[in-house]
Amino acid sequence: MKDKLLTIQNAAVEEAKKTQSEVELQQLKAKYLGRKCEVTTLMKGMAHLSVEERPVIGAYANMVKDELEMLFANRLESIRFESQKQRLMSEQLDVTLPGRRLREGHKHPITLVMEELVEIFSSLGFGVAEGPEIEKDFYNFEALNIPKDHPARDMQDTFYVSDEIVLRTHTSPVQIRTMLNQSPPVRVIAPGTVYRRDSDLTHSPMFHQIEGFLVDCRVTFGDLKGILTTFITEFFGENLGVRFRPSFFPFTEPSAEVDIQCVICGGKGCRVCGQSGWLEILGSGMIDPEVFRSVGYDADRYSGFAFGMGIERIAMLKYGVNDLRLFFENDLRFLRQF
Ligand SMILES: [Zn+2]
Repeated sequence: MKDKLLTIQNAAVEEAKKTQSEVELQQLKAKYLGRKCEVTTLMKGMAHLSVEERPVIGAYANMVKDELEMLFANRLESIRFESQKQRLMSEQLDVTLPGRRLREGHKHPITLVMEELVEIFSSLGFGVAEGPEIEKDFYNFEALNIPKDHPARDMQDTFYVSDEIVLRTHTSPVQIRTMLNQSPPVRVIAPGTVYRRDSDLTHSPMFHQIEGFLVDCRVTFGDLKGILTTFITEFFGENLGVRFRPSFFPFTEPSAEVDIQCVICGGKGCRVCGQSGWLEILGSGMIDPEVFRSVGYDADRYSGFAFGMGIERIAMLKYGVNDLRLFFENDLRFLRQF
């Protein structure tokens, strides 16, 4: 029986050498070590052996089994090594193939417009100021001549964090913060994010504004007109008609809404301008002496103007976008066009 076991073992060694794949090796392993394998079949014949011989042959058979296990494990390792070597040899590097180019990102249209505005006003001598988006009621309303019971508060649907803290509804609080920190002359623009409880085709609860103001001795409405007309020409790139329309803001007196000739129809009248030929783009005016009083400026000595506009609004006009929400839907098909 020992001889038979030895013959089986030798046969297994020979066959293992010839295996080329893991599958072949698995089949071989089943043949020699599986439940119906040759060794097991042979061991069934042990019943005929004498009581003395049985443990000796049993131990020998187990030893053969262990050795076969080891044999198959080693063979598996070398098959894997070989196939890896083959794979590496067959992979060739073609240095003439073009590289895979990473798609470059670019700035969001709102950021682009904001940067362009900052650039235009910088060239006119304005510095840039920033303020917090979570703001005290005092800076957002009261110091701007909008007391608690003022009807102007109804025009700005506000997110209140608490009775005294709001998400700023405009960039105007930066005006107050700047004037409290700095004595005239000041010439500053304040771009930033603002919040209102508003959402439709032309309103988003989060949007962007740019605010500008200038305070000095003998500043007149003529200066305001000059600065804004220069800005409009620079930004829209042509000599558009500009119209100043009397209006009301609590923090300016007199106040004016500024319209430009419709960029879509050139003033003839279309759907965008409601057939009027004009588009409203910003609010402006001479800073109310009440505002100067709340920041400790001498209202008899200084005068100044302020203006503010929605960045989305002028981005829509400049690029001919008809739905404000497109800016915030993050659809790359839209964003890639800028
Ligand atoms: Zn029009």
